[in-house]
Amino acid sequence: MAQYLFAPPAIQSLPIQGKTEQFPINRIFCVGRNYHAHAVEMGKPVDKSVERPFYFTKSPQSLVLSGSTVPYPPETRNYHFEMEMVVAIGKAGFRVKAEDAHTVIYGYAAGLDMTRRDLQLVARDKGRPWDLGKDIEQGSVCSAIVPMEGQILDSGAIALEVNGDTRQSSDVNKLIWNVREIIADLSLFYHLQPGDLVYTGTPEGVGPVVAGDRITGRVAGVTDVALTIGAGE
Ligand code: MN
Repeated sequence: MAQYLFAPPAIQSLPIQGKTEQFPINRIFCVGRNYHAHAVEMGKPVDKSVERPFYFTKSPQSLVLSGSTVPYPPETRNYHFEMEMVVAIGKAGFRVKAEDAHTVIYGYAAGLDMTRRDLQLVARDKGRPWDLGKDIEQGSVCSAIVPMEGQILDSGAIALEVNGDTRQSSDVNKLIWNVREIIADLSLFYHLQPGDLVYTGTPEGVGPVVAGDRITGRVAGVTDVALTIGAGE
């Protein structure tokens, strides 16, 4: 056993629906601009015939469990929700063919890719990294993992409300790059590992929250997610 100078950081994990074991988290990958209407609202339409998907990462330490109350984060005045279907990887995979993508899937979850939109857009437009806009403490919200081993989710309503008012409403069948295509493409760059999460992108309707707001959302056939925004620190 290695002797550490101080207690090592805890392994991040999520509950698994119907099981006592936790799902340990390795990495968090996020797909950018993966619904046409959202790409358009961000001013960056996608032409799939000439583009490939792109990704950013959020650290596992940014995870927070659905149902939490989190402080409004520092250094932003435009904190946005992004409702997303999350794929939980359960098997290692490198250069996975699209037709084999189901073999690495352990399950699915409902997630929020919370975003400092003001900082993300400054970074985007100045050609800087997105970390300050995206890799936010308690900014990767996720439900329990729903075991759906070997299943590909190709359709299902995805929706989000703030204080009960619908703000996002779409269908997973509108993903520009679907689950098979994402796993095939992402695994060209990374050796996917059990415990990797893939946030698959948000539909249109993203918007700001303020302290006191209650976010609720769901992916049909998977589960719900919720977050309450508290006062800033
Ligand atoms: Mn996102």
